[in-house]
Amino acid sequence: MSTVKRHKIHLSENEMPTRWYNILHDLPTPPPPYLHPGTGQPVGPDDLSALFPMDLIAQEMATDQYVDIPPEVLDVYRLWRPSPLYRAHRLEAALGTPAHIYYKYEGVSPAGSHKPNTSVPQAFYNAKAGIKKLTTETGAGQWGTSLAFACAQFGLECEVWQVKASYDGKPYRRLMIETLGGTVHPSPSDLTAAGRAILAEHPDSPGSLGIAISEAVEVAAQDPTINYALGSVLNHVLMHQTIIGEEALKQFAKIDVTPDLVIGCTGGGSNFAGLAFPFLREKLAGRMSPVLRGVEPASCPSLTQGTYAYDFGDTAGMTPLMKMHTLGHDFIPDPIHAGGLRYHGMSPLISHIYESGLIEAVARKQKECFDSGVLFARSEGIIPAPEATHAIAEVVSEARACIESGEEKVIVMVLSGHGHLDLPAYGAYLDGTMTDHSYEESEIRDAVAEALTRLPAIPGQ
Ligand SMILES: *Cc1c(COP(=O)(O)O)cnc(C)c1O
Repeated sequence: MSTVKRHKIHLSENEMPTRWYNILHDLPTPPPPYLHPGTGQPVGPDDLSALFPMDLIAQEMATDQYVDIPPEVLDVYRLWRPSPLYRAHRLEAALGTPAHIYYKYEGVSPAGSHKPNTSVPQAFYNAKAGIKKLTTETGAGQWGTSLAFACAQFGLECEVWQVKASYDGKPYRRLMIETLGGTVHPSPSDLTAAGRAILAEHPDSPGSLGIAISEAVEVAAQDPTINYALGSVLNHVLMHQTIIGEEALKQFAKIDVTPDLVIGCTGGGSNFAGLAFPFLREKLAGRMSPVLRGVEPASCPSLTQGTYAYDFGDTAGMTPLMKMHTLGHDFIPDPIHAGGLRYHGMSPLISHIYESGLIEAVARKQKECFDSGVLFARSEGIIPAPEATHAIAEVVSEARACIESGEEKVIVMVLSGHGHLDLPAYGAYLDGTMTDHSYEESEIRDAVAEALTRLPAIPGQ
């Protein structure tokens, strides 16, 4: 019998890509610059140096097509990379679809998600610059875990503001961060001016990523030995994640398969960009023509319903102004279970590429995502992170459409993490207490318009 099914497309350690891909090199038009809120002028490297080391600032602004991954970073990556690419034969059978479904599984990392792909280089470059401590925010706890792991690798302290809803709902994530050597505070906290201002108005605030970012930035900005690390949104973060797509391209080349559709869930946009950008390079060069599609929650629909405008990346207004799809910097999304997708904005780079018509976006509701997540768990055996169920729901819907059309469409998604610490969310789904939430178009439009009136004057907006 020569018809053994191929479940896993392996790449050996020495086939792992050794450079990140910078899409800024290949875009038809550059994205609008970040602006200084005081002057309205584009920010320069010095404006960012209170928070980030120069190596990362250089990467944020670089237009070289590739950046070599430092040997020290490759060495840590090899703890779990290359990550496997799976053919989801069992999910295909459960659906009865002629589609060919593949998933690039990032849950094999120490933190259980794609986020160490960037936390490791960020910790490395900060340690190299002599920084002693990194502060950060975390939504579902995945980024805090990833940064604590990376800081431990390079001898840095790590202090994390965890969104209150997730601090209360996901105690095991906090314990994981602490076990890896990090310190955790619920956000909003009374440790910062930003946190105290929110608590004074809303003592029961469930928190948001925007508030937690303000707290972490405030602490880092005040001490030259402390820097801040962001887990998504920024150009250098998305670039670090391209190791996912570079590996996937090599894996597909081994089996001589070319995807028709590339899918990822989008919070700030980093895991989707990580898979999709190398495929977009191939598409722009005319070597393949896959559709690239991000999937966001209906309860936090920055790409599909947000406004494309300059806004702050945090709630208190301490970051540069970035042109992005936004729901308004003081938007507090419904506390859905996919905490990693509860961000008011979308990566400026993804937003720009979306505006250029090079990628698509859809929004999906929580319960249909868990329907698909549970189907995936029962067929493929992996319990997906709630964030990743958004990608799965889109894949399942596409695969069902192929039953009708008979099309053997090749679909690949990034399975951004496992859900082993999100089982209470599955509990809520299984016992029927999970709810759906989405917004009327007008509700969002009015809220964003109102939030944007509180911004400093921006030339041309
Ligand atoms: C943080 C997170 C996300 C969302 O962040 P992106 O930057 O959009 O990738 C998605 N999935 C998992 C498992 C996460 O931890």
